[in-house]
Amino acid sequence: ATVEVENEPCLNYLKGSEERQKVEEALKEMRSKTEEIPCVIGGEEIFTGDVHYQVCPHNHQHKLAKFHYASADHIRLAIDRALAIRAGWEKRPMAERADIFLEAARLLSEKYRYKMLAATMLGQGKNIQQAEIDAAAELIDFWRWNAKHSLDLQKQQPISTEGVTNSIIYRGLEGFVAAVSPFNFTAIGGNLSGAPALMGNVVLWKPSDTAMLSSWIAYNIMREAGVPEGVINFVPADGPTFGDAITSSPHLAGINFTGSVQTFQHLWRQVGQNLGLYKTFPRLVGECGGKNYHFVHSSADLESVANGTIRSAFEYGGQKCSACSRMYVPSSMWPKLKDELLTRVKEVKMGDADDFTTFISAVIDDKSFGRIKNWLEHAKSSSNLKVIAGGNCDDSRGYFVEPTIIETSDPKEKIMQEEIFGPVLTVYPYPDEKYREVLEMVNETSPFGLTGAVFAKDVNVVKEAHEILKMSAGNFYINDKSTGSVVMQQPFGGARLSGTNDKAGGPHYVLKFCSPQAIKESH
Ligand code: GLU
Repeated sequence: ATVEVENEPCLNYLKGSEERQKVEEALKEMRSKTEEIPCVIGGEEIFTGDVHYQVCPHNHQHKLAKFHYASADHIRLAIDRALAIRAGWEKRPMAERADIFLEAARLLSEKYRYKMLAATMLGQGKNIQQAEIDAAAELIDFWRWNAKHSLDLQKQQPISTEGVTNSIIYRGLEGFVAAVSPFNFTAIGGNLSGAPALMGNVVLWKPSDTAMLSSWIAYNIMREAGVPEGVINFVPADGPTFGDAITSSPHLAGINFTGSVQTFQHLWRQVGQNLGLYKTFPRLVGECGGKNYHFVHSSADLESVANGTIRSAFEYGGQKCSACSRMYVPSSMWPKLKDELLTRVKEVKMGDADDFTTFISAVIDDKSFGRIKNWLEHAKSSSNLKVIAGGNCDDSRGYFVEPTIIETSDPKEKIMQEEIFGPVLTVYPYPDEKYREVLEMVNETSPFGLTGAVFAKDVNVVKEAHEILKMSAGNFYINDKSTGSVVMQQPFGGARLSGTNDKAGGPHYVLKFCSPQAIKESH
């Protein structure tokens, strides 16, 4: 079996359009209520009573969702129930499982798109375009392309010889897979939980507290599409409780994670400590942070640098793992580029996520706000950092942080090396002729290796830059911004501390959730 799929086109929500009206209706309904969300364990919806809330980032008085944490016992129950149905699910033909996820993609595209957008806008603080590329297009693409790749994988077979038939079957992993997803992409949660399930695994999905409503909708789409109860269990939980419970089960077969380096390292350590306990070596797939760069050469096109940098640094408030947060600019170009950036950043409209003219809305929560605020204070109080745009923040109604540009004379300042995860860009103007040394330095000051961009028209410089920066970015952009990867166009993931680089949205991703068996049959 095979299937041909395409990327989902992004829709425009222009004033007066039917699409706009439908999103407005979905927003209106969501603004007026607090959705109550249970744990779902083996198909049973459990309201545990350990209640938490998801608030709207631009208006934290609004409680968008009320959800129930699973306890350690609930998590263990979910493991038991998942394991009990695992064999039946894995036995289903790949084509049937693929059809279920193609159906999920169809449902999201045709039936739940507007609801998903509204939940992502109000819950995660995305404006309409950012919600569309994530919660609609990207999630649909993940489900579709993974389904296609799961079928194509079956066709990758060994050769047979005279009197011998060889084959490979792509079994699921023996045990359960835990999926732990972040707040910043609705699509990632649907992919982290969906891809292992597609391949015949049973899954415990811990969605992010601050993406609860959109995760819940994605979950219910998968159920409606035909994912049997118990195959994916919806398990909101306290992070450490969840981590301890999954890593102390002998049946842990894999962790599919996106989040911070610290959490992934912690989980990895726990797995290491418990190795004697497991029946297998758990498969660890993780995507962590980034400290992504735009490197500009004097031959670059200034307009596209300015445009790309504003977008990469400030779209979704710099809360994409791929966001540009450090930039290197030749001194000769800096005065003009600075003017361009300052003009453009003034035009960036900050506002509520559900206002269709908003470019940047509030950051996700109080914790994030506090962390970014500390960075702003650090910038204001350091002699080698100069705030040239923005620098203020206000959390009286929502968690608003101005898009901020900082100039530095010290390219090794910690602000040039540590992840901020907010709308803060730092620029280092360098002597033009030193560009090679600066490239070396960019590489040396990259503990992460997620995304990076080089802007240069000189093809030799591009070649040189790529050579030097090769391991500093899993996704490398030439004359384009560091964000906005598209499923199957730029499979996404980084090296170094950015993760295991298994390339979500690429053709090999589904293989991570398989344990292939080679079969030799002699005649
Ligand atoms: N794939 C997204 C992009 O390229 C980033 C995903 C993430 O933040 O984890 O912008």
